[in-house]
Amino acid sequence: MTREEAIKFAEHAVNMTGISEVKEFYRMAAAALTPPTQEQVNKAWRGEWEDMREAYNDVPKRRCSRCKRVFIGPDTPFCEACGAPMTDEAVEMVMEALFESRAD
Ligand SMILES: [Zn+2]
Repeated sequence: MTREEAIKFAEHAVNMTGISEVKEFYRMAAAALTPPTQEQVNKAWRGEWEDMREAYNDVPKRRCSRCKRVFIGPDTPFCEACGAPMTDEAVEMVMEALFESRAD
């Protein structure tokens, strides 16, 4: 299977399942396999907020799983330090931005 065939397969497979996590996996696979965006996607890839409440005596602090910076306050869609997308919506925004920039 060539890279191009793998991309086509992943893009087709998105429509073959009703499971949102599987759809997301195939979208991620297609994006990661696409040469012009692979590096950008990896750089901008998703992180998770780690709840640091326990470590800071119930102060609502959160830590970025990617850059390990600690922030205070409610969760945000992107890490304020490294810009990692933290939610499905944020990942979609990154993907849309990449596909738009690629069409230029
Ligand atoms: Zn971060």
